[in-house]
Amino acid sequence: MAKLSDPITILKGIGPSKAKQFAALNIFTLQDLICHFPRGYEDRTKIHLISQLVPDTPACFRAVVMGTPRTGHIRKGLDITRVQVADSSARLNLTFFNNRFAAQQLQYGEEYIFYGSVSGDYGGYGMTNPVFEKPDAEPVTTRRVLPIYPLTAGLNNAAVLRAVAQALSLCDPPAEILPEEIRQQYGILGADRAYFAIHQPSSMEEAELAKKRLVFEEFFVFSAGLALMRAAKDGKRVQPYRDLELSPFYDRLPFRLTGDQQKAIGEILTDFASGAPMNRLVQGDVGSGKTMVAAAAMYCAVKNGAQAALMAPTEILAQQHYASLSKLFAPLNVETVLLTGSMTPKQKQAVRSRISQGTAQVVIGTHALLSDTTEFAKLGLVVTDEQHRFGVAQRSRLSGKGDAPHLLVMSATPIPRTLALLMYGDLDVSVIAELPPGREPVDTFLVNESYRARLNGFIRRQVAEGHQCFVVCPAVEENEELGVKAASVWADTLQKTVFPDLRISLIHGQMKSAEKEAAMAAFARNEADVLVATTVIEVGVDVPNATLMVIEDADRFGLSQLHQLRGRVGRGGSKSYCVLVSHSRNPESLMRLKALCKTTDGFRIAQEDLRLRGPGDFFGSRQSGLPAFRVANLSMDLETLRNAQAASARWIDTQGAADTPEAAALRQRIGELFRRAEGTMN
Ligand code: ADP
Ligand code: MG
Repeated sequence: MAKLSDPITILKGIGPSKAKQFAALNIFTLQDLICHFPRGYEDRTKIHLISQLVPDTPACFRAVVMGTPRTGHIRKGLDITRVQVADSSARLNLTFFNNRFAAQQLQYGEEYIFYGSVSGDYGGYGMTNPVFEKPDAEPVTTRRVLPIYPLTAGLNNAAVLRAVAQALSLCDPPAEILPEEIRQQYGILGADRAYFAIHQPSSMEEAELAKKRLVFEEFFVFSAGLALMRAAKDGKRVQPYRDLELSPFYDRLPFRLTGDQQKAIGEILTDFASGAPMNRLVQGDVGSGKTMVAAAAMYCAVKNGAQAALMAPTEILAQQHYASLSKLFAPLNVETVLLTGSMTPKQKQAVRSRISQGTAQVVIGTHALLSDTTEFAKLGLVVTDEQHRFGVAQRSRLSGKGDAPHLLVMSATPIPRTLALLMYGDLDVSVIAELPPGREPVDTFLVNESYRARLNGFIRRQVAEGHQCFVVCPAVEENEELGVKAASVWADTLQKTVFPDLRISLIHGQMKSAEKEAAMAAFARNEADVLVATTVIEVGVDVPNATLMVIEDADRFGLSQLHQLRGRVGRGGSKSYCVLVSHSRNPESLMRLKALCKTTDGFRIAQEDLRLRGPGDFFGSRQSGLPAFRVANLSMDLETLRNAQAASARWIDTQGAADTPEAAALRQRIGELFRRAEGTMN
């Protein structure tokens, strides 16, 4: 017997070089291997008659070899073996390329089970390169439901299949963590059965059941983790804030807050006064003015003697928040500091000491805020901006820095409600539905290369009117990804050949942070007309004078991402435009892009994205801020999610702290899942 923690190199056929390939899939131990779930299945259980075979649809059939296979040497490196087979319904010509094995194995007069698809290629109706097995052989490639695994270079499906089968035969699958009564109630397979059934299902139905169990389990663990996080805070009491008078702050604003902004602030103040730590999500479309809501909350916290921290997902955004908020807060005698990873150790240390002494009242930063060396004197409020970019675990890390600080998370990505439930299940929600007055919707157009001259003219006109343009490319350098525009090359082309008289600048994620900051700041000061960029500018960046967003190879981006990019313009009073450039002929891609032209409602766009791409992308993408679920993206069954959530909430209530092996195993799994979540973020 082996242990789940044993390295995969104890398996037959896995030496150091194979192990390296598995490592590329993050598979190191038998447990990793057993938890490497198929991404789909091929149903090869049904045996068809040759006469029933449908062109280009692979299927199994049972047939007798009607002659000795004949192999011809066509040219160097190309041997072709031909043989005819037949069943009671018809004959079929088989062709194999460079397949000595087939030529040797197939015996005249013998019967085999084949799997392949017929086609009209290669000189007449027939089949090329079917796989086959003897009827009395153990079913491996025929007569079974074949799992299809995520693979990597050098590692084929058969190799993973063999390794998993060995692992399953050598050790017990992961321990059961779902209590018996919950499994009963929701008709959930036991762990012992599920891990076999996901890899070696006897039918498609059994594969479904196994998937359902593992998805349930994953959601159960995740929701239980959230529930524990919340429970740890729920009992806590904090000193209610008494001073809720914000007029000095309001008086400094150059505009009146919208009704929704005021309402959100009102809800926050109510939380502050309640004596319990706040857990609140502010959700509002791009440009709805979430920053001011956060600023009001931070001002209030400071007035009540606490420190407030604002964590942004990128340096650029942190710098921008720092620039605008320090200006806003300085006359109010609030000391604002910036802490980012790119500062020198000396700078960081100086800022950290102001934070730990409590002289710094508002702290704005990136992940650097999470580091153990950042200590707050009296952290009372934690704000995370663009929360969808962070993991749940990071959120909890930052709030772990104070004594049950109030928590405010802001997110623009409108996600469908059920997904929101999963991500933000532990939060109260304020919605900003209304945009500041005077905003006209951004007109969006989809064009192809034939519009290039007109597009260039359009860019020129915007600049002539004193405005600025963004041009976003999917890649940084040429050969990075074939056939897509690269920001650095495109910036060069625009400057040298298209707009020699305009000021073109460049920003991308591979630049040093100081360079990025300088480029962004210069653009914000209107020192460049056109900023060629990658998606580093996707979140939050605010340049109200920019009125045109051009997105090259727009089909390379997700809809919600495009919506975020488009949100970079239309932030001042002037009419703004977004031009999506795409050479794609794929009707589905074009449909997605057209959907974006028709609506500016971020929530509808997210739902359309979900409908067109499926939940797999939502879960798979790092954008979601969710842990890397292993199975949940295989099937996104909302009912399973709800059930798992309800079950875990009940279970945490009644037995979460219990001293049983099941409770201990669950707590360990929660830890693992949340750690994995952190590992995948940045
Ligand atoms: P987001 O919700 O996308 O984070 P921001 O907070 O960056 O949006 O605000 C977008 C722009 O709108 C900023 O330039 C901000 O100063 C401005 N703004 C915010 N609130 C108002 C308001 N009530 N009236 C006018 N402009 C506003
Ligand atoms: Mg913002």
